[in-house]
Amino acid sequence: MSKKEMSKTSNISVVRFTDAIEKMDENLKAISSGGKKVFGYFCTYTPIEMIHAAGFLPVRIAGGQGRVDNADSLTPNFICPYVRLATERALMGRYDYLSGVIEGYTCDVVCGAVNVWEDNFKGELYHTIPLPYDNYPADRDFFGAVLEELKDKLEGVGGAVTEESLEVSLDLYGKIRGMILRFMEMREKRSLPLTAAEFLTVIRAGFVTPPEDYLLMLEGLAGEIEEKGDKAETINRKGIPVLVSGSLVEEPGVLEILEESGGVVVADDLCTGFRNFHPEGGEGKTSTERLIDRYINRYPCPSRSRTGVRVPRLVELVKSSGAKGVVFLFQKFCSPHLADHPVAVEMLKKEGIPQIAIEMEETGIMEGQLRTRLEGFFEMIGS
Ligand code: SF4
Repeated sequence: MSKKEMSKTSNISVVRFTDAIEKMDENLKAISSGGKKVFGYFCTYTPIEMIHAAGFLPVRIAGGQGRVDNADSLTPNFICPYVRLATERALMGRYDYLSGVIEGYTCDVVCGAVNVWEDNFKGELYHTIPLPYDNYPADRDFFGAVLEELKDKLEGVGGAVTEESLEVSLDLYGKIRGMILRFMEMREKRSLPLTAAEFLTVIRAGFVTPPEDYLLMLEGLAGEIEEKGDKAETINRKGIPVLVSGSLVEEPGVLEILEESGGVVVADDLCTGFRNFHPEGGEGKTSTERLIDRYINRYPCPSRSRTGVRVPRLVELVKSSGAKGVVFLFQKFCSPHLADHPVAVEMLKKEGIPQIAIEMEETGIMEGQLRTRLEGFFEMIGS
């Protein structure tokens, strides 16, 4: 593939999304100063619709990249870089606009982080939501009781959740998820004229933007793609198709390198990707039932799903997407994902699907080394 074919950008503008990420601190501070409470969350299992239905703004806490200096006093250095970097940001005062953190209990690290943040940072509400593992009637009843408790907590800090307000929030987030899932279908067919790095930027902007505004941004993007039609550049979509699997990828650089090294992302199993959006909504007679149904039927994460259930679904996703290999992108020390990896490798091997694992540290990735490994991987698949 020529250098041009490995171009890093498309001719579709994602500048609105880049801006939303770059200006998130000032934008969110302004929203909070304007009287709207902003609550942070770490993982995609947090029922953000209910936080929004209460009249608040849920935003996903970012970690970013960099050095961890001060967070060493609050977190051990054998937990994932994401939580350490997020804590470093909080210590720098970058989350002072938060009125607290509401978090689905996914892994022990985030559960511990909520407690540490509550002890060290101001805020009115720090709450961890227990989650069911299965899909029996008792699991749904349990989750219903958990949501009732969350509603009480939100109302205790000035929110008001009604069946109607919840319905509005469910519809809004459902539309957003639906649009991203349509983009993902285009990505699989290689007709999405965005690089993997650009698409990640589009997704990440949604974590820190009021959903009403974000939906408009997505509609603008969809309009531009449609308008450009065949003139939208798709040269980036050439390469060996791969699925990217892991927890969260915040920095687009790693995906840029992946696509410059001869691969093309056609699917993912990331919590900054498909896992955050599938399914777009749930079924039920009431808003609460719809909310329960959606979270019970979520595309599984290793921290909330048994390996024997999740890994076959991962393999199925690889096959249905047409990916010829899997690139695992792990946060260093992320136990839930690393624990699933040997089983995933075994199952992929049986199916003849090659894989490579890359570990991400606080300061990011070693670019030269990564390029060499990925180029070797794609050469091996292509031969
Ligand atoms: S699942 Fe992994 S990456 Fe996510 S918070 Fe837990 S340890 Fe960190």
